[in-house]
Amino acid sequence: MKLSLIIPCYNEAENVRAFHDAVLQAFADCCYDYELIFVDDGSRDATLYNLKKLYAENKIPMKVISLSRNFGKEAAIYAGLEHASGDYITLIDADLQQRPEIVRDMVAYLDENPDFDMVAAYQDRRGEGKVLSFFKKAFYSIINKLSDVNLQKDASDFRTFRRGVAESILSLGEYHRFSKGIFAWVGYKTHFIPYIACERTAGTTKWGFRKLVNYAIDGIIGFSTRPLRLATYLGSMTAVAALIYLLIVVLQKLIVGIDVPGYATIIVLILLLGGMQLLCIGIIGEYVGRTFEQSKKRPIYLTKEKLGCDE
Ligand code: UDP
Ligand code: MG
Repeated sequence: MKLSLIIPCYNEAENVRAFHDAVLQAFADCCYDYELIFVDDGSRDATLYNLKKLYAENKIPMKVISLSRNFGKEAAIYAGLEHASGDYITLIDADLQQRPEIVRDMVAYLDENPDFDMVAAYQDRRGEGKVLSFFKKAFYSIINKLSDVNLQKDASDFRTFRRGVAESILSLGEYHRFSKGIFAWVGYKTHFIPYIACERTAGTTKWGFRKLVNYAIDGIIGFSTRPLRLATYLGSMTAVAALIYLLIVVLQKLIVGIDVPGYATIIVLILLLGGMQLLCIGIIGEYVGRTFEQSKKRPIYLTKEKLGCDE
């Protein structure tokens, strides 16, 4: 049995050695083979340099894939999956927020439960701020209502799965990769375990509020076409309302014979309709844009350099 750990790294120069050593320690007495697959996601710091040093030390079987620029964590994971040779595959962050010890428990669980294909960790968020927690709740309820997949709240990318799951994930060649959705979409029997994220050992998180909002929109657009339906509904509803209002105005003119002095009404209607039209164009645009991106059939990532990957 062999385990492949995939570690996407973006500007993690201070963390890669600590991570490597933590794995060495956590897996010291384990009785199966394992390999580390570091994917350097176009880091601007010494991440690649440090990875090369670790590779030269040759303490753990290791692969290093260096992408030609920053393609994002999802693309880095894809690159790692393509190079993983293990029967079990683990996705784990480089910053030691996710302890390698947990991976051993995940593997043990899969070994003991042949009917399960994946063990996923979800973050225990008891200490989280109220505002962020509110937005997250809103996001999960919106996406679960709109899309065909059902996302487990707070489920992270930190997970271990069997080879078949990896192949299924690789078979989804979409350019905009929303991993939470992809994991839910491929299905398989998944066991969820809670974990408490530790503090980052060094460096900073790459997720700001704006990035999170964009990520949420990516998730909704990528796994549902219902926003388009919303545009249709909105349009039909306005059309009906406009028709009724037109009748009222005409009847008023014919029967009562007064001109409606509706300056305010007109302004409000113009603004309202204009806003709604822009919103709908925006929604359609999101889908058109994605279709355009996908139709170009560009690769999900490009590699600059590889170590330890025999082709
Ligand atoms: N990461 C990556 N490419 C990116 C952003 C992040 O490979 O464009 C990696 C990063 O190096 C880390 C993992 O993804 O190993 C998770 O990132 P981070 O710790 O910033 O996210 P958080 O833990 O705050 O959710
Ligand atoms: Mg982190």
